[in-house]
Amino acid sequence: MSETTTKHLSFFESVNRNFDMAAAHTNIPKGLLDQIKICNAVYEMAFPVKIGDEYQVIEAFRVQHSHHRLPTKGGIRFSHLVNRDEVMALAALMSYKCALVDVPFGGAKGGVKISPRKYTEQELEKITRRYTTELIRKNFIGPGLDVPAPDYGTGSREMAWILDTYQVFNHGEIDAAACVTGKPENQNGINGRTEATGRGVFYGIRQFLSYNDDCKALGMSPGIAGKTMVIQGLGNVGSYSGTISQDEGDALIVGVSEIEGTIYCQKGIDMAKLLKYRKDNGSILGFPGSTTLPERTDWVAIDCDILVPAALENQITTENAGKIKARIIAEAANGPVTSEAADILRKKGVVILPDMYLNAGGVTVSYFEWLKNLSHMRFGRMEKRYQQNSLTNLVSTFERLTGHSVGMKERDILTHGADEIDLVRSGLEDTMVNAYDQIREVYKQKSSIEDLRTAAFIVALDKISGDYVRLGIFP
Ligand code: GLU
Repeated sequence: MSETTTKHLSFFESVNRNFDMAAAHTNIPKGLLDQIKICNAVYEMAFPVKIGDEYQVIEAFRVQHSHHRLPTKGGIRFSHLVNRDEVMALAALMSYKCALVDVPFGGAKGGVKISPRKYTEQELEKITRRYTTELIRKNFIGPGLDVPAPDYGTGSREMAWILDTYQVFNHGEIDAAACVTGKPENQNGINGRTEATGRGVFYGIRQFLSYNDDCKALGMSPGIAGKTMVIQGLGNVGSYSGTISQDEGDALIVGVSEIEGTIYCQKGIDMAKLLKYRKDNGSILGFPGSTTLPERTDWVAIDCDILVPAALENQITTENAGKIKARIIAEAANGPVTSEAADILRKKGVVILPDMYLNAGGVTVSYFEWLKNLSHMRFGRMEKRYQQNSLTNLVSTFERLTGHSVGMKERDILTHGADEIDLVRSGLEDTMVNAYDQIREVYKQKSSIEDLRTAAFIVALDKISGDYVRLGIFP
């Protein structure tokens, strides 16, 4: 490959370069690797929407990367930067992500090329409903076919519009609610979906830092408490990653970056206060106690333990990778570090917690939501009271046998039966812990395995190729 082409790998090429690195460590036959790698279906569409007095032609995509499991699954992005290559890369990452965390879906992704800020709520509703109609027309949405979710620029509001549109066209379909996830909690959604990606990022970082030897190798003490952290992007993922790491992990958020600029405070930035400050002032700049760095892009070079890019792809490239001072890069976004930038970082001894693992919390809880919709029952409905009664009996027996009684507050804690949110968080935590341990085990097996991303890819490829063999498509 010539110097110029290696410099400008597209996002999808970058994902595939990582794929190839991992594939070289496996015995999977080339034909099967080719089948896994390729995008199975790319639907590129354009439709007119009346905005004010004018018609605008909106370009949009839905890519189904792999059909080895159905439905396919992945978010819908609203951004003026959306393009075919990006959606293909994101769809591919969804396949690997789902396989890695044992979420039984193929990968997909959608994109609508609009800047959501430029439209009113009503206009966005029109665009979302029209996009959904296009998906319905081509069988690109359905509980057993393809199930969208939120991504950059979309949230539960858009998911509610998608569900409603789907229901209009599929009247009486009993499982219709499972056609999309990330819905509002009171409209067939699940408790804990909104925070899920950020919470998963926290569990993932915490799990990495739980291994003494690995921390030692990085010159760090184990545990997340007291670790300095920089967050790039205060969207859903960045804000929850920062808030939960701070509140439940005692991490110290020393830097935050957004479109308007980057702020720094060595003593730590209170995430809840910062989010409120930005809501009130429309900017993070001027947050009390912080200094504004000269350039917005200066977040890359802040000296910290953990750098958390939580916005978009291609943020850390060969151009700025040399400036990184962080010991760990926690990829909360999809594709924030290019494949070639990772080569530079590897040489510097920087550890990357790879996107396909670290941000898998979102799709994991989407899976729980989908299951909830198919079962037509909230989690915990059957067992909550049973657990509560058993635990109450246990505590009463303990009191009787010891002659001591526990206080009311302790009794409440000890006898609490699991609610939906408790079960969702517990399922998410278990998923993140198990997936990291699988990656780590593979990584430790062979010294030639480049990094944790390569190990994560190997785990995912092993599972996907196994599925293809079971399907009988490949012997
Ligand atoms: N957009 C999220 C992701 O990139 C969530 C996808 C989903 O829940 O289906 O993983």
